[in-house]
Amino acid sequence: MKLRKILVWFRNDLRLHDNEMLVEAIAKSDSILPVYFFDPRYCEFMEGCETVHGDSQVQFLIESVAALRNALKKIGGNLLIIEGKPEDHLPLLVQKYDIAEVYHHREVATAETTVSSHVEDALWKIKINLKHFVGHTLYNKEDLPFPIKDIPDVFAQFKKKTERDAIVKACFTAPEVIAFVPVEDWGTLPHFETIATEELRGGEEEGIKHLQELFEEGSEIYAKVSSRTQGYKPKYSSRLSPWLALGCLSPRKVYWAIKGAEQEFGSNSNFSNLILGLLSRDYFRFMFKKHNGNFLKEPGVFVESSYNLEREALQFQRWKNADTGHPLVDQYMYELNHTGFIPHHARLLVATYLIHISKVSWTSGAFYFEEKLIDYSPASNWGNWANVADGGKSPVSKSTFDLDKHLKILVNEDQIV
Ligand SMILES: Cc1cc2nc3c(=O)[nH]c(=O)nc-3n(C[C@H](O)[C@H](O)[C@H](O)COP(=O)(O)OP(=O)(O)OC[C@H]3O[C@@H](n4cnc5c(N)ncnc54)[C@H](O)[C@@H]3O)c2cc1C
Repeated sequence: MKLRKILVWFRNDLRLHDNEMLVEAIAKSDSILPVYFFDPRYCEFMEGCETVHGDSQVQFLIESVAALRNALKKIGGNLLIIEGKPEDHLPLLVQKYDIAEVYHHREVATAETTVSSHVEDALWKIKINLKHFVGHTLYNKEDLPFPIKDIPDVFAQFKKKTERDAIVKACFTAPEVIAFVPVEDWGTLPHFETIATEELRGGEEEGIKHLQELFEEGSEIYAKVSSRTQGYKPKYSSRLSPWLALGCLSPRKVYWAIKGAEQEFGSNSNFSNLILGLLSRDYFRFMFKKHNGNFLKEPGVFVESSYNLEREALQFQRWKNADTGHPLVDQYMYELNHTGFIPHHARLLVATYLIHISKVSWTSGAFYFEEKLIDYSPASNWGNWANVADGGKSPVSKSTFDLDKHLKILVNEDQIV
């Protein structure tokens, strides 16, 4: 009898836990072939290409892919690593290993969905199906109380209806045994000069460790936030976003960890803010899906910038180089350049400064974040930048961003406690 083999194409889902695609591939095949592509269109750090991505971002990605490979090795397999375009290599792999079907997680941003379409076309020519899974969000789109086309554009409405009428599913458990397609050469990770040890290290195991440490007794997450604090106090930051962005942690795993801690220690405002963050993340992804990636240009949804980049080139350069002369903005930009991470309040402040004080196009800032952030995620990045650019003028950004408050903080920075 012919053995049925499924190719599992990993992208921003670099984990074994809560991975429906993997669970189904194992259930529906005799063996699986896990593959990861370093696509030259996005991995400019590879040999022969000019580096545009921050070192921290590249390192976090490579660590995360390496961690997935190690996790698969621990259960007797490996991860096939290929430098090249998925649409060029997948049909060849299908033919070489006699693959019956290819599985992958659906993305929402144009660049990623275009790659999926190319792959779908290439596989279609050899009569192979590309099966799509959803696994990036807290709520599956099928479980939402409205079809994608009717999702409210105003975050507060989306949140209210979703929390009231939808449920967060349980996590899929990580497989302990997998039968792998035998491969002679599993490929090597791109060479990258490791930079000084970062506090945030990529990979599923590191992500789970970080998550567990957040909820250890005595940790900062249980600190009571005093309502009598004078001035502006930045919200608690879990720093979970890099693992969530690459799928090393599933949002459901984070959600259920919060719910577990809530049961044990009672509710607290940091827990609520974490859940609010996960909902914001879902919201921006669903907005991308609803508006087909064009939502940033739609009049009435988000206002496009009318600033001229050339005219503002100097200000942009100063902002990027942490040389604006504004101590707080420069401190945060320095941190972003050196670590690839700054917390939410810092992102809001540097974005407000760039757009509303330096009068530089918001898209320049969004492109810069795309290169530097270790948690870069298209929907979250572009959605948040568009909101700051709109400055609360439309009902959409009004519910998520208060321009006057942020301008005041920039003027009276000694208010930050
Ligand atoms: C200009 C700008 C650009 C941004 N770009 C990105 C990006 O590329 N990738 C990204 O993951 N987040 C982005 N954010 C959202 C947010 O700033 C980060 O998710 C957050 O700072 C990550 O830190 P944390 O893990 O400590 O967040 P926490 O406050 O601890 O929140 C928990 C999780 O919820 C999610 N989350 C929280 N707030 C938001 C939000 N406003 N939008 C979307 N998700 C949210 C994140 O996954 C985060 O890890 C951006 C925000 C701004 C203002």
